[in-house]
Amino acid sequence: MSLSPDDILNLFRDCGAVLQGHFRLSSGKHSDTYFEKFQVLQHPHYVQQLCGELAKRFRRDSVEVVVGPTTGGVIIAYEVARQLGTRAVYAEREGDRRVLRRGFTLHEGERVLVVDDILTTGGSVREVLEMLEPYRVQVVGVGVLVDRAGGLVDLGVRTEALLQLLVQAWEPQACPLCLRNEPITEPGSRFLQTKPTP
Ligand SMILES: [Zn+2]
Repeated sequence: MSLSPDDILNLFRDCGAVLQGHFRLSSGKHSDTYFEKFQVLQHPHYVQQLCGELAKRFRRDSVEVVVGPTTGGVIIAYEVARQLGTRAVYAEREGDRRVLRRGFTLHEGERVLVVDDILTTGGSVREVLEMLEPYRVQVVGVGVLVDRAGGLVDLGVRTEALLQLLVQAWEPQACPLCLRNEPITEPGSRFLQTKPTP
């Protein structure tokens, strides 16, 4: 069975993962739409289906290791790797960069696939690509479930998205929802550990 972009969108909607409101995204931009991906990722059955689609796109690329950034990317990397029969390693946050911990290592020339759940500005994936540079691996591509930047983010490598949407996001000073004084939500967990915003 193959999942079309419409199937993917319906799956996210049916799981309650597409939220409408006023959100501060992890990129710092504001948006009226937020993908609460864990509403989908809590269902291993859906994760298996979605990652099966990603695995299919890279089946012929002789992938040896799948790398995903914490937190959602860990689940995606694990399942894509399981379906491709490869290792999975996880890129954890350290300040403003990503690192491999837990004894994970990569070998020069290894064929690496980078995966993540939602691509917004490409920030997390870029951090992973930068982390990979000193390892001198071959990055075969990037695979994401949803590209909410509508294909406008250029990561410099082949990028596959199961669903591509252009969802509006604004710099805070240009946000129409802020202008209307709509209360803002900071979804996700990354903000729990940061300083309170002034
Ligand atoms: Zn705003």
